[in-house]
Amino acid sequence: MNVDRIKKQFPIFKKHPEIHFFDSAASSLKHKDAIKSLSDYLAYNGTNVHRGVYKLAAEATDLYEGARAKVADFIHADVSEIVFTKSTTHAINMLAYAIQDLINEGDEIVISELEHHSNLLPWLNLAEKKKAVVKFIPLEKGSITISNFKKVLSKKTKLVVTHHISNVFGYVAPIKKMIELAHKVGAYVFVDCAQSASQVEIDAKKLDIDFLAFSGHKMYGPNGIGVLYGKKNLLEMINPAEFGGEMVDKVHLDKESTYKAVPYKFESGTPPIAEAIGLASAIDFIKKGNRKAKYQYTLNLRNYILENLKDEKGITIYNKDFDTNLITLNIDGVHPHDVASFLDSMEVCVRAGHHCNQLTMRYLEQNATIRASVGIYNTIEDCDVLIKALKETRDFFIGFWKE
Ligand code: PMP
Repeated sequence: MNVDRIKKQFPIFKKHPEIHFFDSAASSLKHKDAIKSLSDYLAYNGTNVHRGVYKLAAEATDLYEGARAKVADFIHADVSEIVFTKSTTHAINMLAYAIQDLINEGDEIVISELEHHSNLLPWLNLAEKKKAVVKFIPLEKGSITISNFKKVLSKKTKLVVTHHISNVFGYVAPIKKMIELAHKVGAYVFVDCAQSASQVEIDAKKLDIDFLAFSGHKMYGPNGIGVLYGKKNLLEMINPAEFGGEMVDKVHLDKESTYKAVPYKFESGTPPIAEAIGLASAIDFIKKGNRKAKYQYTLNLRNYILENLKDEKGITIYNKDFDTNLITLNIDGVHPHDVASFLDSMEVCVRAGHHCNQLTMRYLEQNATIRASVGIYNTIEDCDVLIKALKETRDFFIGFWKE
């Protein structure tokens, strides 16, 4: 893989050649083609979709629907199964509202403590509203095992919620087997693909996923765009989550309105047109070349960082045993915000905090951690700078042990 060539495709490095960016798990940097197609639409079109009958509006509709087709192809789905949303969070909230009628009092929702708040709170809220019971999968060394999953799965399970790749530990969950088992008891499965969509192939059909979601801004694409996928028959069965222009078919004074066919009944108001078009270009970039090799490249860089830090005094790593593109750690006794500010002074960008995942922090018995995540543009030199910067930070704050 020619990382220098890839790096040149990210305009930010022209303005900031000095940065060593290790926060792609929060938001990746943006690929030039995603920026260009988004800004070309704004500059040379800018009209609404599905409404105007003039040529310019038809072109906007073609671009937007072309983006939907690209997303559908990306996850092996049908175009009717792709709903554009603002983000993963928006998609999950929409879904949790839309499937209310499928959940009854006493039904069980199976989930784990590893979920991002966006994939936890909407489901807890749904459970509370519908008097459903939430069952947490017992964790084993920070991960979901099939045997523990089986312990909480039962005929009462109506919904299984899981991440594909966790945002704190970064490993790939055993979703294939989880989905198989969940379907055997008649449960629906939602998979949060926010972290995985940029990294590994997702075949919604082969995996038999009922619902999934992801965001453009973690995929080298724009903010403000997300995707909700649902099997067509399920999307047809559930209610719209938001109401307004364009999602409706017939409106009456004296009887219930009727709604458009899927996916349009889920897209009310003016959608994120520029952002969807930008996402389509980001997908082109992700699909170019050998995806497995690109993923392996990020795992190799992360393993290089791990190898260089794992035996260092004063540095505790929480996800040593996982195959992942990120490393979650603390410098003992030093608040991660102090560490991250120190690293920033050396042009190293990392995430510090609870990563919108307080349950996993509780599991680790930490208030917060440092998370350094590798993106496709990172180099071995970036890793060397990160390693050196972390050691220097450790020495600055707790170097007394050296004496
Ligand atoms: N789930 C996971 C696993 C995530 O990492 C994130 C983003 N940090 C989200 C959901 C929420 O994504 P967004 O902020 O794009 O809605």
